[in-house]
Amino acid sequence: MKIIMLGAPGAGKGTQAKMIAEKYSVPHISTGDIFRANIKNGTELGMEAKKYMDQGLLVPDELTVKILLDRVANEDCKNGYVLDGFPRTIPQAQVLDKALTELGDKIDYAINVEVPDENIVKRMGGRRACLSCGATYHIEHVPPKAEGICDTCGKELVLRDDDKSETVMNRLDVYHKQTQPLIDFYSAKGVLQTVDGTVDMKDVFAAIIAILG
Ligand code: ADP
Ligand code: AMP
Repeated sequence: MKIIMLGAPGAGKGTQAKMIAEKYSVPHISTGDIFRANIKNGTELGMEAKKYMDQGLLVPDELTVKILLDRVANEDCKNGYVLDGFPRTIPQAQVLDKALTELGDKIDYAINVEVPDENIVKRMGGRRACLSCGATYHIEHVPPKAEGICDTCGKELVLRDDDKSETVMNRLDVYHKQTQPLIDFYSAKGVLQTVDGTVDMKDVFAAIIAILG
């Protein structure tokens, strides 16, 4: 099962993608997590990506597409995957589509998690991330057991630089201009499904399971 998560930054794509990955035993692939891991490890890719991420801009397609195609070629992806944060532009979607078509394959579902901009701004300010293991919390909705500490690995939780309010506004703008057109792209392919992302995360997940079966 090959699934793409669509939605604004902070819509809950990562939260749902992790639950889908666990239930259907497929890997959760987040290009944002891959970039953050590279930044943490000080790689050349990480240093290049950081320049864009800190401003709320998209990392150029050439860099992003390559890391994604390499990742989905791994053995663990042969029965499917959940993509979270990729594709984010029409050219990225076209490259993925071409790569899959060459393998006689396709995306099965593009799940659009719909949340209005005003909710997004509130959510991002409350998001806390573990840069060590990638776990995500929310100070009100999903608090960690001990304040500021990751439940999973015990490391410190942070407000991501790109979750600060000025950058969130830029990211929303970029989303509307560059990523939202993907909704029509996948709708035209007949694989688009939209869920209400404003409800409790368990209810969002129930709606997704009803689609995936
Ligand atoms: P994305 O991957 O789309 O950027 P996340 O999954 O990281 O978004 O979610 C953004 C923030 O909102 C996180 O702090 C997360 O804990 C919280 N969150 C996710 N889903 C919901 C929900 N349905 N209701 C309230 N908060 C949520
Ligand atoms: P995310 O963790 O998905 O919110 O992504 C964080 C940041 O990483 C984004 O704001 C972009 O700067 C960058 N990024 C992640 N995925 C992509 C992508 N598919 N294309 C371009 N930039 C990306």
